[in-house]
This record gives sequence, structure tokens and C-alpha cells, in this order.
Amino acid sequence: MHHFQYKQDELYCENVPLREIADRVGTPCYVYSHATLVHHFTVFDRSFEAVPHLTCFSAKANSNLAVLRLFSTLGGGADIVSGGELFRARKAGIPSERIVYSGVGKSAHEIDYALEEDILMFNIESTQELEAINERAGRLGRRARIALRVNPDVDPNTHPYISTGMQKNKFGIAVDSAFKAYEYARSLGHVEIIGVDCHIGSQLTDVTPFVDALKRLRLLIDRLQGAGISISHLDLGGGLGITYDQESPPLPHEYADAVLRELQGLSCTLIFEPGRVIVGNAGILLSKVLYTKRSPSRNFVIMDAAMNDLVRPSLYGSYHQIQPIEKRSREEQIVDVVGPICESGDFLARDRSLPMVKPGDCLAVMSAGAYGFTMSSNYNSRPRAPEVLVRDDRIHVIRARETWEELVRGESIPDFLS
Ligand SMILES: *Cc1c(COP(=O)(O)O)cnc(C)c1O
Repeated sequence: MHHFQYKQDELYCENVPLREIADRVGTPCYVYSHATLVHHFTVFDRSFEAVPHLTCFSAKANSNLAVLRLFSTLGGGADIVSGGELFRARKAGIPSERIVYSGVGKSAHEIDYALEEDILMFNIESTQELEAINERAGRLGRRARIALRVNPDVDPNTHPYISTGMQKNKFGIAVDSAFKAYEYARSLGHVEIIGVDCHIGSQLTDVTPFVDALKRLRLLIDRLQGAGISISHLDLGGGLGITYDQESPPLPHEYADAVLRELQGLSCTLIFEPGRVIVGNAGILLSKVLYTKRSPSRNFVIMDAAMNDLVRPSLYGSYHQIQPIEKRSREEQIVDVVGPICESGDFLARDRSLPMVKPGDCLAVMSAGAYGFTMSSNYNSRPRAPEVLVRDDRIHVIRARETWEELVRGESIPDFLS
């Protein structure tokens, strides 16, 4: 469910025609629906209302300050993977006690920052990281609350680049070694074990891998408790998929039912790290047709948005629906929707049937609210697109379009060249 719908023949975000945003803010531009963000967060969070839990939105999916603040006002926290994300989360007003920190490569500098901020929990991904966190905490005279991220070795049946819970992936500590790693952690003076964590992948469209992972974690928790290592927090990561095309992922309450059934009798605070399922379908990339052209074998629609704005199609071959913001022509043709970047891999869609378009028409690239703006870059020295939050009939620019001056900020020409 989302609030990007046609009224007559015009595509709206809530009560604002996308044409108005294109005219006022320009294109390309990301547009998010406030009502959709609130709805998705609330539906997810409420599906666990029967048990103690904390929904830590995965900041890497969409890290705009306004978006993070919104979830904070709804009682959410953040799952972060870098010092930069911690900075954003704190700046957005997310309380430290609602922040968990994942990632295989936390630097000493980032660890110190998180210790100083006194976050809820570090999700530790290796023995060396455990030692580093223990050492940094000792230096700062603190105790780090920790969970070990367990790699349960289950196949999430998703794109290989976003699968994280199999033995061959770089993430977590193998489930068979986890018990030993916990015993080692217990012997260290500056860490406090509070949790068990896993995150098996992204864009999962079936509950089975979640349940399989949980069963393995449950066995580990029982064994830990038996050895006198008490676990008060169980972090189940994120990963719930969304509909980009024809997928029918489990609804949050179906996911919750499956999870809660497995956890009968366990008294832990549950932590979730959803990203895509909250923001994915709450945002679009709005873009304008610059030109159309026909080669002997293909029709191209050349947009003002490119792979630097939305890399998912180029990187993962991902499918995003593309919809005209004004339905005029009924005649369709098969086209490649491409951007201005000097790479053949620069496309938003391939072999797509679209109504005939002409320069100046605008298209909405749907389901772009997750891993859209956050994965954007300045490749080809293209300023990054603005982000707009729509609430009812109002437009709020929550990130201005980058300027050419900002592109070169921090660069300098050494004296010997001047
Ligand atoms: C990316 C990530 C998430 C969020 O994944 P989604 O598929 O967007 O829900 C959660 N936890 C960790 C550790 C991640 O790396």
C-alpha cells in the first residue's frame, strides 16, 4: 500500500501532483510520501506489539535526517553500519539507547564514537572485532554492550549480492563457532554480553529462511543460557522483501506470526532492523525525458536521471516499475530507459513496454525509497538529486539539489601547479 496513485490521468503523491514537484523542485528528484512512511513503520512495529521489542530502522536504506527523525517520533531506533550513520542518527534525535551498530569493518575511531554515545549494542562480526571493542572500551573506561552476529548458514533465496547469512558470505560468526566466541567474550573485562544477532539477507520473499535461522539461534541461546550466559536481547535483523514487480512477500503480520511462533517461551527483547520494507515503496525517483531515439535494433528513452541517481538496475539488474506522470498516449512501445552517463550499463529499465513519450514528459521510477538516494554518487560529476517529503498537500524539500560548487568542495590544486 502506498500513496502514489493516479487521479484522473495524473500521478499524485498524496495530494500533490508530481507535475507540480517537477516544476517547482526540478528533476531528477526523489519524492517520499509521509503517510506511506508512517503507515509502513506503524504496521511493522505494531505487528510485534504483543512482545517487548524495538524497531531499529536500517539507516542505510534511507538516511535522510527527516526520515530518521520521523521514525524516531514513532518510537523507532536505528540500525547503523558506520560512524557517519551514527552521526546522522544522533543529529536526527534518535536516542542512543535505541541504536544498534552492525558491520564487519568498524574502525577504532568509529568504535570510540559509538562508545562515547553509549549506544544500546554493538553487533560484533568477528573475534578480532570483539578484541578491538574490548580494548577501546577499556581505554575509555567503559563497558560495551554487545551481541555477536551469528551467521546461521541459511540460503535466503535472494540476489547473491544481498544474501548475507550463508557460510560463503563475509558476515557474522559461523553458528558452529558462536558458542566458543561467546565464552571468549565472557572472559573479557570491558564487554557486557546482552544479545544474539543475525541478519541473513535482503529482499526475502518467503518466511522459511527467517524461521530456519531462528531455529538455529534458539538452540544457541538455550545453550548459552545453560552455560550461565544470559541473553536479554535477540536481534533478528531486517530483510523482509517488498513488491517491485510481481513478488508477493509475506505481510509484516505473517512474518511476525512465524517469528513469534518460534520464540514461544523465550523472554528476550526483540530487535528488528527493517529497511526496505519500511521505505522502499514510500519513495519514487521523478525524472524527465530529455530525448528519444531509435537505433536499428532498439528504442531508447533518454532520461535526466541515471545510474548515479539510482544504481540498483545497473548493480543488481533490479526491476523498478516505471509510470508516466501524465497518462496521455495509449500506444505502447518496447524501450530501454537510459540515463546520460557514459556507460552502457547506465539504464533504469530494459526491454520495457511503455506508453510513447516525448521530451519534457516525466516518468516516475517506482519503489525507489530504499537504497535509492543512499547509493547515489557523483559519477560523471553529476550533482546528487534533491529529496522531497510530501505530507498531504505540502511539499518539503528535505535535501537540496547539490550544486556544481559543492562537487569540488574539499578539492585543491597544489602550489606547484598554480
Ligand atoms: C542492510 C541491513 C539491514 C536492512 O535490510 P533490509 O533488507 O533493507 O530490511 C538490516 N540489518 C543489517 C545488518 C543490514 O546490513
